[in-house]
Formats: sequence, structure tokens, C-alpha cells
Amino acid sequence: MSAAKGVREDRLWQRHADMAKLGGTPKGGVNRQALSAEDAAARNLLATWAEARGFSIFTDAIGNLFVQRAGTDAKAPPVMSGSHMDSQPTGGRFDGMYGVLAAFEALEALEDAGVKTRRPVMAVAWTNEEGSRFQPGAMGSAVFAQRYRLDEMLKVKDWKGVVLKDALAETLKAAPAPMLDGPPGFPVGGYVEVHIEQGPRLENARKTIGVVTGIQGSRRYIVTIEGDEAHAGTTPRAARRDAYAAATRLASALYEATTDEDDTLRFTIGRVEVLPGSPNTVPGKVSFTIDLRHPDNAVLDDREKVLETLLVEKTKPCTARLERVTNVPPTYFDPEVIDLVRAKAQGLALSNMDMPSGAGHDAMHIARLCPAGMIFVPCERGISHNEIENATPQDLAAGTRVLVEVLEELANR
Ligand SMILES: [Zn+2]
Repeated sequence: MSAAKGVREDRLWQRHADMAKLGGTPKGGVNRQALSAEDAAARNLLATWAEARGFSIFTDAIGNLFVQRAGTDAKAPPVMSGSHMDSQPTGGRFDGMYGVLAAFEALEALEDAGVKTRRPVMAVAWTNEEGSRFQPGAMGSAVFAQRYRLDEMLKVKDWKGVVLKDALAETLKAAPAPMLDGPPGFPVGGYVEVHIEQGPRLENARKTIGVVTGIQGSRRYIVTIEGDEAHAGTTPRAARRDAYAAATRLASALYEATTDEDDTLRFTIGRVEVLPGSPNTVPGKVSFTIDLRHPDNAVLDDREKVLETLLVEKTKPCTARLERVTNVPPTYFDPEVIDLVRAKAQGLALSNMDMPSGAGHDAMHIARLCPAGMIFVPCERGISHNEIENATPQDLAAGTRVLVEVLEELANR
């Protein structure tokens, strides 16, 4: 039997239903925030399933939970798959959890099919991907990849003042697992994460598998425009340096300059402040935020230059300045893993398309450690971070079949 034939749609669907009870909300979603009692319950349930199959489990100092199926070469770095079990306060039952359960189903499918692999194959549940209770998000994977420092993360507090270190200790007490020695992180031979798309592109294109090419980069800016405050009733047009008028000219030019034909560039002005904020005073100062995202760093560089040019051109006679506050570069997944995902989808006769990820995922950190990629499946109307989030058992199983074939191949390299 091939490993893909070992994937059982009913078992995978039932596991989603079982997990959805932990932190389940009346509207059918979940509230299972990082390092809560519900998170601990999910860890315990996964560990119970793992023990029943004879897989080994262990955790690390940031609470990432690993389930391992042994390979024939115990010294070979494992191939890993997974995602997160924590949710938004009003989250859905598939975001993150699907990636963990698909990885676990892949382990079971390999076991049921009697497939031996050279490398161990590991399912992982990364701690605190959502970042809704403790910030920043994607924390467990970032610590594992040595992107964030463990000691700094342990000091982070939630809005009630609970320190992460204490919440983690409590969680590990409620959901004990053998602890790895030393700081998080170990050699990994490859990483593939499956996730619901959280957008409508697959559904609109009627495709089952998204071959994820990378995760888009994002930059945030603050634009500040300064003019002169003046009397709204007496000041003629020629004498005005109206900061809000300049801001609207700039904003409309920016919307135009960021409208790309294939609708990949994401441009958002999400917060505007007009000062002094009086109905009968010409605004003397306006500031607004820009959130700019694209999978290609060159496009971001190019649009940033356009932004700088328009900033000068469109705001006269006011003065304007631009401050870049964050710059998260795009993740480019490994070309061989991308090709492998596409080839396995085709081999299984599953419709597919290449696409970048609009949202951030744990894979963006692990991609710095080893060859990495992602697989998307459709979710209903693209809705996510919402209790009504939905996906079909068929699509979830299809993504898992692609996953297990990719993992098997990577685990024998
Ligand atoms: Zn997620």
C-alpha cells in the first residue's frame, strides 16, 4: 500500500471534531489561546493519540510539542511537518489545527502502509503562532529557528499581566512531555506545513491544492504631512497649506500606483490622524499608516521608491516625510520542495495552482533552517480567523495525501 492510500479521511475529520471540543464556542469555532487550559488539553489529546500509535513525544523549552515516528537511520535529521494548535479568541477549528492533524495523519498513514523511511518523520505543534494572547506570534517556531531569544520570550506578559514563563510551566504541568535538553532547535532535514488557505483564491479557481511558493513580505510606514493651521472661514485657497488636502492627493495617487494587474500587491491605509481635529480649522498636520505587502522584495523596493517620489510631488505646498517602521522580508520556499509538492499533487490527479501565502505562518521561520514548503487547501469563501471557518473532509484529506508523499520522499533523501 502506498502511504497516500493510508490517509483516512474519516479519521482525520473525526480528529478535527475531537479537537474542536477543546475550547469550543457556541458558534462552532474555538477559543484555545496559547498556553491556556484548552491548549494544554489539546496537547494531552495529541499525546494520547501518539502514545496509542507507539510514536515518541517530547517538548522543548518554549513548549513546542513533537511527535516522532522513527526512521531506519536514527542519526539522520528528521523531516518535519506541523503547524499550531492555539487559536484566535474567536477562531475557527481548522486554522493551524489542520496542519498539526494532517502531519499526525501522515505519520499514521506511513505506519498503516508499513512504509519505512530513512529519516524520522515528525509532527510538530508550534507554541503560540497566533500571538493574540502573547506577542509576537509565530513565537515557538521563531525561537526554534533562533530568530527570537528564548529568555526574552519567557518574559512576555499577556494583557492580564500573566508572564509567559508561568503560563508555559502551568501548561507543561497539565500536559507533561519529556523535555529536550538545552535551548530549542535541532537539525531538521526538511519542513512542509499544510494549512487552510485563509483566502478565496483556490475556491474561486476551483483548485484543490495550493502549491505555496513563498510568504509575502510586508512593510509598514508612517507618512507625516505638515502644513499650516488656519481659519476655515477666512483663509483663501491660495493662502492655505492644508495638510489633509495634501494627504488625500497623495493617498489617491498611491492607490493608483499600487493597483497591479494580477492583484498581488496589498496596499492599506489603516489609520489616519488629522490635527488639530477641529471642524473650523484648516488641518496643520496629518499622519497616516501604510501597510504594503508582496511576495517579491524587488516589487516592494520599487513601490517604496514610487512612494517617495509621490510623497514630494503630491503634497506641495505642504512638506511630507516617510518613516519605515517595519520591514519583514518575503520567504522564498525551496524550489525543489515546491516542485515536489506540485508533482505529487499532479501524481494524485489533484487540481492545483502555484500561489504565494498572504498570511504569515510558522514555515517562514523554519524555512531558514532547512528546505521548506507549504501546501494549501481551500476554506469556505476564504473566511478565517472567524468561528464560521470551514473546510471539506475531502479537501483536508487531499492535502494530507500530498503531504505524506512529499514527506516520504524527503525522508528518504
Ligand atoms: Zn494558522
